[in-house]
Amino acid sequence: MPSETLNQFLDENLKELKEQGLYNEINVVEGANGPRITIDGKELINLSSNNYLGLATDERLKEVAKDAVDSHGVGAGAVRTINGTLDVHVKLEEKISEFKGTEAAIAYQSGFNCNMAAISAVMDKNDAILSDELNHASIIDGCRLSKAKILRYNHSDMEDLHQKAKEAKESGQYNKIMVITDGVFSMDGDIAKLPEIVEIAKEFDLITYVDDAHGSGVLGKGAGTVKHFGLQNDIDFQMGTLSKAIGVVGGYVAGKQNLIDWLKVRSRPFLFSTSLSPADVTACTQAIDLLMESTELHDRMWENGDYLKKGLKELGFDIGDSETPITPCVIGEAKATQEFSKRLYEEGVYAKAIVFPTVPKGSGRVRNMPTAAHTKDMLDEALSIYEKVGKEMGLI
Ligand SMILES: *Cc1c(COP(=O)(O)O)cnc(C)c1O
Repeated sequence: MPSETLNQFLDENLKELKEQGLYNEINVVEGANGPRITIDGKELINLSSNNYLGLATDERLKEVAKDAVDSHGVGAGAVRTINGTLDVHVKLEEKISEFKGTEAAIAYQSGFNCNMAAISAVMDKNDAILSDELNHASIIDGCRLSKAKILRYNHSDMEDLHQKAKEAKESGQYNKIMVITDGVFSMDGDIAKLPEIVEIAKEFDLITYVDDAHGSGVLGKGAGTVKHFGLQNDIDFQMGTLSKAIGVVGGYVAGKQNLIDWLKVRSRPFLFSTSLSPADVTACTQAIDLLMESTELHDRMWENGDYLKKGLKELGFDIGDSETPITPCVIGEAKATQEFSKRLYEEGVYAKAIVFPTVPKGSGRVRNMPTAAHTKDMLDEALSIYEKVGKEMGLI
């Protein structure tokens, strides 16, 4: 018999979310997630994917993925440590370390799972982790799983980080102390102050961990935020995802050989969850090859990002202080934000509303993710729809 307690819990909480306008209705994309998408038979300009370079639908990636299915099958067949390490996995890891300028790399099934795996493989209950208050959910969960003491510092506030690092070090309570940050913060598009973080890390002997999910493919001519600042020798963990700019799926840590050796024997998703499929890893390797050969896609994405930002700003929207192509359009209250997003949708633009608890209360926004795959025509069309809806709602 179904649990009455569970039913009651679910019904009450779902009702409350819906009443507060916080219940997320999931849209189903009919077909590929390209610059234009179809939802409920309606064609929309897509400004909500993380497919920065358009690689999710790239013909060159599709080709190698199909070949990999023919040569290696559809599944890896086992976890990495039994016999799910195929030659294509090793090749991908070699490619990632070359791309990142590190001695070695380890691939996981996703970025989320990578953070859960890597943080808890190194940190434990006798340690402390200094974590930026705006870090991604997967970092927060990875930290919690480690049982280390979590010391949150104010967002990109280097004085606060310095103070908390000093206190943690001087307390003598912890065996190891780590500082962990997003490279690029996904809601505002701002870049972590890595040079200052590295200085503080040196002063207090901190382990450094950068989650570069939104920086890889975007900054440092594609190699990421750490490369952008020339800090490849100063960051212990260069973590990233293969699902955003790389366009496929998976996560990784790049770092020194001894770190990667340790993660291969101690990170639980690597040991207990089946490895990435051959098609996925082969497509990822191809994507990184393309990024290393040419900055064409990277350059086009930046051009499109700058173009969209300039257009929205000229229309009078509040686009925050993004330093990357991530372009928030801040509306404010959750309900108004959702209404704005809904009107954009009706007019032909897909830009998802992001509200509390993903962003602080009162700072609801629609977030735009321009990509290399957008054309100027698409962006112009999107801008004219923004203008129409913005005027109609009295926002500009
Ligand atoms: C998206 C994201 C992840 C998760 O990556 P997936 O590969 O999608 O699981 C981790 N960290 C940050 C900062 C992200 O933005």
